[in-house]
Amino acid sequence: LSDRLSGIFDGLKRRGALKESDVTEALREVRVALLEADVALPVVKDFVSRVKEKAIGQQVLKSVTPGQQVVKIVNDELVAMLGSETSAINTAGVPPVAILMVGLQGSGKTTTTAKIAKRLTEKENKKVLMASLDVRRPAAQEQLKILGEQIGVKTLPIIEGQMPVEITRRAMDAAKLQGFDVVMLDTAGRLHIDQSLMAEVVAVRNTAMPLETLLVADSLTGQDAVNVAKEFDAQVGITGVALTRMDGDGRGGAALSMRAVTGKPIKLAGTGEKMDALEDFHPERVASRILGMGDVVSLVEKAAETIEKEDAEKMAKKMAKGEFDLDDLRTQLQQMAKMGGMKGVLGMLPGMGKLKGAMNAGMDDKVFKRQEAIISSMTQKERKQPKMINASRKKRIAAGSGTSVPEVNKLLKMHMQMAKMMKKMSAMGKKGRMPMMPG
Ligand code: GDP
Ligand code: MG
Repeated sequence: LSDRLSGIFDGLKRRGALKESDVTEALREVRVALLEADVALPVVKDFVSRVKEKAIGQQVLKSVTPGQQVVKIVNDELVAMLGSETSAINTAGVPPVAILMVGLQGSGKTTTTAKIAKRLTEKENKKVLMASLDVRRPAAQEQLKILGEQIGVKTLPIIEGQMPVEITRRAMDAAKLQGFDVVMLDTAGRLHIDQSLMAEVVAVRNTAMPLETLLVADSLTGQDAVNVAKEFDAQVGITGVALTRMDGDGRGGAALSMRAVTGKPIKLAGTGEKMDALEDFHPERVASRILGMGDVVSLVEKAAETIEKEDAEKMAKKMAKGEFDLDDLRTQLQQMAKMGGMKGVLGMLPGMGKLKGAMNAGMDDKVFKRQEAIISSMTQKERKQPKMINASRKKRIAAGSGTSVPEVNKLLKMHMQMAKMMKKMSAMGKKGRMPMMPG
């Protein structure tokens, strides 16, 4: 029975595995797309070879070409790389908490400093003090002061002739005395990485001990992005990146370069000169912009959805016949993670509303995995005839799957309930309508 079942699934899903030649060819196009999006060359090389390894041998969905399938794999990999971590700005420390803004000149540090201050003030109810440490550019401190007035955020009074470390100390002291939650430190930039800049920033860092050190980088930065990110991270140590000018024409390849080189999350995206033009970073959007193949990606997604729906319908039919052993349960568990729970399958059966809720309770991914492991530790016979699983068998299964006997019991009970319910349903089905329903 299970052979027949998996045969059905295979026929549905599979068009064949991706061959090396398919992958190589598709990745040639992807490579060009990434370079056009200004992703740094070493990052492109690395990325492409990693995806290649991953892609070869993967199954191709029916109704898409191998090339399209590869693009989808690339897209998913991009999304995963760009944003697998939380990107909230960390202010959870003993106040006043310092946030240090670093980056090259003109990258948007001062603007982004004010934008973040505004956001923390308005959305998180923080009392924020901003201080400009830019003593190099004439009127740089004035610039921050004006922005502060615009957005209603305090700036540290300017004292001519003070050096960055002095200003930092003064800002931290003032914040402590006056009960500020957050101190935003806006540093001076340089046109290129240079050692005096790094030394200055490091001295400021050591004085303020910031909770966040954000590298502000222009998303239009091309091949240089890798160097900038690498140097700042190595010498100062960054906790995240804020990418500016995402409103421009660039395709944002710098995001991938910086992320790849530093491993630090991209936390924010600047999307304009205005003070509220600051957004959370959206990996999907940026991935599709970098790749420039959004149509292909949604095509493959649609194909995958169709397949899953077909799988679910097949399973639903089988369940309706009252045939449901532990092999089926395992297939089910594997699908659940993908399909948003038992809902996907049960939703296709009539009258299952209440049960859905009960089944979904407590079924997160980890639970699925453990349950799957339990079933995998059973023999073929046990899966077909769960009744034969006695105490000693349970012990063996628990040990084999790294779980416990109570967990094994729980799974068996769940299966029994499901099977019973399926049988009932199929009986109802044979009578042609639900028993309690009028008419
Ligand atoms: P800094 O030298 O790093 O402090 O850079 P500034 O904050 O002074 O910004 C330099 C210029 O870039 C200013 O004209 C800003 O208005 C502009 N800018 C900053 N962020 C963005 C952004 O996200 N989008 C656009 N279009 N312009 C920005
Ligand atoms: Mg500035």
